[in-house]
Amino acid sequence: MEKSEWKVSLHGGHSGEFCDHAEATLREMLEAAVRAGYDTFGVSEHVPRHEARFLYPEEVAMGWDIPKIHADFARYTAHLQELVPEFEGRISVLRGLEMEIVPSAKYVSLMQDFRNQKLADGSPAFDYAVGSVHYVDEVQIDAAPASYLLAVEACGGIEALAVRYYELVAEMALALRPEVVGHLDLIKRNLTLAGFGDFSLQTPKIQAAAESAMEAVRSVGAILDLNTAGWRKGLGEPYPAPPLVQRAHAMGIGFCFGDDSHRPSDVGAGVPEAREYLLRCGVPTVTVLNREGAVMDARTVQRVVVL
Ligand SMILES: [Zn+2]
Ligand SMILES: [Zn+2]
Repeated sequence: MEKSEWKVSLHGGHSGEFCDHAEATLREMLEAAVRAGYDTFGVSEHVPRHEARFLYPEEVAMGWDIPKIHADFARYTAHLQELVPEFEGRISVLRGLEMEIVPSAKYVSLMQDFRNQKLADGSPAFDYAVGSVHYVDEVQIDAAPASYLLAVEACGGIEALAVRYYELVAEMALALRPEVVGHLDLIKRNLTLAGFGDFSLQTPKIQAAAESAMEAVRSVGAILDLNTAGWRKGLGEPYPAPPLVQRAHAMGIGFCFGDDSHRPSDVGAGVPEAREYLLRCGVPTVTVLNREGAVMDARTVQRVVVL
């Protein structure tokens, strides 16, 4: 595929080496990113969870535990440093991580510790972070519909769940100040599967909560992830939905693509379509991240690129 400046993904590159629900090696993911014609590919592996109650059922079934996933993430952090220079000249690889909001009581300091990790020479281990909300009050909303239903019950209804979700997005953005906020309206993912196919997320209360979340995103200067996984999950649209894209754009918030890749076939998938989607929503640019200076004492800066 032809290389273009707007072909940038800042969310994805999960690999089977470091993530239970991904496939292939990180090097294979980066080779796929070169083939997809990306100018810049941000790798954002999941920060490991800190308590056994947050292990995924698949991880438990494989006998994984908290020390194992922490050791995997340490290997990821080290391996990423080797791959950046290896791919230099073919693709710019940004070193990232995807932060979580569990456990509620102490995620902020735990995530900041990961975000601020240093390498042996004292330089920063990461160029940027994606901040994502996959849990509402510690109940996962991004996995099985059964778990989503537990979250609905805990909040006292679907509308209350959506409002609470956006409150947590706002809280996360202000507390963690990530460079990128992941899949802004992830709360829609399980709506139909959990039996709420007729429910509209456009109620005044939900819109107000989403608006506050976007205010928080803007106030910390973060970019929104135009995440193509929505198409892969059968939602018929990416994250976020058109009204949110239009509102965020009117508020002055920038977008960047995220293929949310978990295997080589996901890499680059939906990005040309996402470009068309942004243009249809009236967004003529993407905001990309660039590493300035040498890798080891780099600063990450935003740059606006015309679509
Ligand atoms: Zn994942
Ligand atoms: Zn995510």
